[in-house]
Amino acid sequence: MRQHYVVGDTRVNDPRTLVFRGEGNWVEPRPVRCPVGHVLANRQVTAGWVPCKAPGRTGHRTHQCDCGEVVYTPDTDEYCHCEKSRPVSIAIE
Ligand SMILES: [Zn+2]
Ligand SMILES: [Zn+2]
Repeated sequence: MRQHYVVGDTRVNDPRTLVFRGEGNWVEPRPVRCPVGHVLANRQVTAGWVPCKAPGRTGHRTHQCDCGEVVYTPDTDEYCHCEKSRPVSIAIE
């Protein structure tokens, strides 16, 4: 399933780009759905971070749906297998 990202109600194309919302307020895009299709705005979502060893990447932002499925941004791939690491919970927003 192709993932979409939003800031507020606005669709964004690059999930790694912070969006300026006025006066010192930068907002990180968030995924719209979890991997099984739940709309995250309607669920309990835990934001986190997984450090990544792949070249050119420091880590993945994670959004964990209350169903247990995790969205990784950017996507994990066959080189890093970061989906096997446990995300560190952090506070964002
Ligand atoms: Zn990785
Ligand atoms: Zn879910």
